[in-house]
Amino acid sequence: MGSRIGLRRPSGPCGKVSCRQAFRSNHQTPVYRVSVILLAVFLAALSGSAKTLSAAETIIYVQVLVDDEEVANSSVWQQRLQERVDAASDIISQYSSVRFKVRSFGKWHSDNRIRDLNRSLREFEQEVTPKPGQIAIGFSSQYQFKRGLNTLGGTRGPLHSHVLLRESSPKTFEPEKLEALVHELGHFLGAAHSADPNSAMRPVIGDGKARSANFKIGFDPINTKIMRMVSSEVTYFKVRRYANLSDRTKERLLVEYERLAKQLPSDPAAKKFIEFIKKSKPPSENSKPPASLYFPPQDDPFKLPKKKN
Ligand SMILES: [Zn+2]
Repeated sequence: MGSRIGLRRPSGPCGKVSCRQAFRSNHQTPVYRVSVILLAVFLAALSGSAKTLSAAETIIYVQVLVDDEEVANSSVWQQRLQERVDAASDIISQYSSVRFKVRSFGKWHSDNRIRDLNRSLREFEQEVTPKPGQIAIGFSSQYQFKRGLNTLGGTRGPLHSHVLLRESSPKTFEPEKLEALVHELGHFLGAAHSADPNSAMRPVIGDGKARSANFKIGFDPINTKIMRMVSSEVTYFKVRRYANLSDRTKERLLVEYERLAKQLPSDPAAKKFIEFIKKSKPPSENSKPPASLYFPPQDDPFKLPKKKN
């Protein structure tokens, strides 16, 4: 999924997440607990715009990285990006049951010869592990911008472990960089491109809108529904791979992606997501899951404490 100054183009799907569950009370019977969970998922899926679900949240821990082209010193870039991730997380949490928290900072060495975001993303995936976070978000200052449309950011699709953004974008200011991050995190939660001119999922961002005082970065109703469905499964059913979403959710997502694809017939994002879902089968115990949809296994450092009897 790419964000562009101008146009965004998806490049393929998926990543690592461990989470914190909020259903902790010891006095719920199993039956009651299941019915509460089902009700919460049902409400989440029903709701199109405002956040109604605050019962449980999943924290996704992030390792934030810059490449060796970053000119600011550590304390400066770390504060800048910490604030940006916090702001993006605040926005995302209004539309889903997921929050992002910075767990650590790092640096990677980017190849000066690479000039396109797709190759850069591949390099980033090879060189960087999200640990000790669950996803890695890289901010690269490597690129030289061309005239016209430029790719601002990219990830391979929902629940993917790596997200890459361009940090040194000329004429792109902090609010637009924030919106680009929100856009990519939207893709992480299954959002595809929308024709809604005010949605963070419009295909062309970095258009100056985010800088206007009256503009609020947010999502269109269809993508809100999608993110709500995906994040509910992440939170309540601990789904860590897009392929492992429930059949019911996949069916409902297909309906929403078809609606988005109709809105933007020439944009590949929703079509790509439809393809992911149609191809996705939960991997069997012994089979290797498809790389594009794989959410790599990881020690979950935030497991619920064992119940005391
Ligand atoms: Zn995109």
